[in-house]
Amino acid sequence: MSAIIIDGKAIALKTRLDAAEKAKRLSVMPTLAVVLVGENPASLSYVTGKEKALSEAGMGSRDIRLPADTTEDALLKLIADLNADATVHGILVQLPLPRHINEEHIIEAIDPKKDVDGFHPVNMGKLVLGEDCFIPCTPHGIVVLLKEIGIETKGKHAVIVGRSNIVGKPLLNLLIRKNINATVTLCHTGTQNLPSYTRQADILIAAAGSPGLISGDMIKEGAVVIDVGVNRVEDATAKKGFRLKGDVLFDEAVEKASYITPVPGGVGPMTIAMLLQNVVQAAIL
Ligand code: NAD
Repeated sequence: MSAIIIDGKAIALKTRLDAAEKAKRLSVMPTLAVVLVGENPASLSYVTGKEKALSEAGMGSRDIRLPADTTEDALLKLIADLNADATVHGILVQLPLPRHINEEHIIEAIDPKKDVDGFHPVNMGKLVLGEDCFIPCTPHGIVVLLKEIGIETKGKHAVIVGRSNIVGKPLLNLLIRKNINATVTLCHTGTQNLPSYTRQADILIAAAGSPGLISGDMIKEGAVVIDVGVNRVEDATAKKGFRLKGDVLFDEAVEKASYITPVPGGVGPMTIAMLLQNVVQAAIL
């Protein structure tokens, strides 16, 4: 069996065009403040990608770049100003932040109505309760991907590897919503005998940040495999000196799965597409 490779770029494009259409119908230009502290190269490329996507969708971005030694107080002051600025609908602080800044303090300072990442405890709490809220973009993108390719989720066993606040935990809460109705197992570093769980998965979502963690023998024949991992693996033969690798050994998994997302070109583009949707939503609120 050779899996169908899910075209995340194509589904993301459709989602982006939909966001652009919604934005066009508004009387204001949805605008996102994008705050980057320091010069982490991966963060810089994520921020640039998000700003380009906003502009292509006819939305605005306020690009705010701060030096790595910015104090927590200065960043909190900036957040307060952006909260009060009616021309800014969404606020995105690119993570990770430099170590001397407490990420929780910063996330909690963002007005939940402008929290387009969906990381604020108010939005997370609403997600758990099944209420309307900003849903974190990566897990939301995964759910949209599954829906767009017509994967049946009701009654299926979804196994997530990774319990982070930005992927694993919100995804668990989305997948157990009644309209999705999956049964979910969440694995993490404390899980013993990981393969015994992954082999039970009808839908396997790898979000561990560990390149090649999921080998072919850990996948049930015919499973849907969603690879969230984006790992920079050193490679002297690559132009940039590294290659992006997923958490799944693609060449092995493709022989076992029915559907699989590639890295890059799978979940990544969906994350940006869902961000655009959240920015439009923030402008409507
Ligand atoms: P994280 O480091 O915060 O969390 C990783 C989780 O995986 C942890 O909860 C840990 O318990 C678990 N884990 C790690 N190794 C494991 C192992 N060997 N067995 C079982 N569990 C294990 O990472 P994150 O921020 O959730 O990101 C995960 C991966 O997804 C990273 O590669 C990241 O780059 C990628 N990511 C991609 C997107 C995207 O848009 N495509 C978005 C966010 C994160």
